[in-house]
Amino acid sequence: MTNSCTHLDHVLISELPGAVEGCEGCLASGGKWLHLRICLECGYVGCCDGSPNRHASEHAETAGHPIIRSLEPGEDWCWCYLDQITMRIASVHGATRIPPSPLLAG
Ligand SMILES: [Zn+2]
Ligand SMILES: [Zn+2]
Ligand SMILES: [Zn+2]
Repeated sequence: MTNSCTHLDHVLISELPGAVEGCEGCLASGGKWLHLRICLECGYVGCCDGSPNRHASEHAETAGHPIIRSLEPGEDWCWCYLDQITMRIASVHGATRIPPSPLLAG
């Protein structure tokens, strides 16, 4: 449970957006997301690995941005794809309003 992530210099977002419309990749392609994640390097909003298109992982790989944070209500955990660890990052503030999952809404 120790924070051994060595990629915190990739965390450039200190304030979360007040609201987002959904997964940017899904909104562009007509896909449906389950849970939302935000890239803490550039602010890209993508969907989780439980979503059909896994845009958060895709973005991390293609952009080389290793750290995401959950945007789900009440969740404040972050994840480093390179270290495969969950952590909390105290320098990231705010809470984001998100729409309900279109996957769950049917
Ligand atoms: Zn890391
Ligand atoms: Zn997506
Ligand atoms: Zn990014």
